[in-house]
Amino acid sequence: MKSFKRIIFFAVFIFFIPFVSAKSKSVNYKKPLLKVSFIDVGQGDSELIITPRGTVILIDGGPGRSEWSNWDAGEKVVVPYLKSKGIKKIDYIVMSHAHLDHCGGLIPVVKKFKVKNFVDPGLDYPSYIYEELLDIISRKKINYIEVRAGDRPKWDKDCGILILNPPKKLFKGGSEANENSIVLKLTYKKISFLFTGDAERRAERFITKKFKKQLLSTVLKVAHHGSQTSSSQTFLDWTMPIISIIEVGAHNRWGHPHKVVLKRLKDYGCRVLRTDKDGTIEIITDGINYEVKFPDKEDVNYGEGYE
Ligand SMILES: [Zn+2]
Repeated sequence: MKSFKRIIFFAVFIFFIPFVSAKSKSVNYKKPLLKVSFIDVGQGDSELIITPRGTVILIDGGPGRSEWSNWDAGEKVVVPYLKSKGIKKIDYIVMSHAHLDHCGGLIPVVKKFKVKNFVDPGLDYPSYIYEELLDIISRKKINYIEVRAGDRPKWDKDCGILILNPPKKLFKGGSEANENSIVLKLTYKKISFLFTGDAERRAERFITKKFKKQLLSTVLKVAHHGSQTSSSQTFLDWTMPIISIIEVGAHNRWGHPHKVVLKRLKDYGCRVLRTDKDGTIEIITDGINYEVKFPDKEDVNYGEGYE
């Protein structure tokens, strides 16, 4: 009889565990929520942040039109996505750097939305698309801001923002547009996101040396679409992401993401999500727990941040 009771006890215990743990990891929708989207723009980057009090920050706008391609992710993907979220104005557009796959799609966004501030690494970069973007910003009298490593801009009262790159003295030579990418950490209570643009080795070395454990982040937007020139072991050791997100286009001509980086992320043990396979990825958090949603797949997962 005693052993029978024990069996019943364990059966009940085992039956309830998944419900208890699943419940404790779901987001409390009564609390104000932070919503971060990694928009599937093909080969390029675009991330949307809506803070609990409604501050809208858009980092990059995906690829725009060029002499090589008519595909404009800003017009075809980002603008409709922002509209679907009911967005009427954007408080901050952060352009990580002036390459086409990050800034091209911002042109239709700045044309169609009321934008208050434009945040730029401030590298003098020769590109007619970047020039056109700056021209629209100036004509629309959008406030222009340059940021540097160590800045803690007060863009939102609930979320902390730390700028980790570019350095005060910009990197010169080599892939200087990528290396001077704006790297930004967003923190809401226990959950944090690290947005890395296309930062490469020099930037990663600078960041790890200067910020060390301040890199610790729940979610990492993997730098430079998973290129081998980024995501060093040291950078990952300091960042310790639970989720890594690669914004990348299927069958792109650069072979992103590189298998070495994928193996490094896999060996490290974090969950790897990719826009070419998962579509747009949305993370919703109350600052303690988070949910990962795949609107293109109608799927939801749960997790929680660091203690
Ligand atoms: Zn890029």
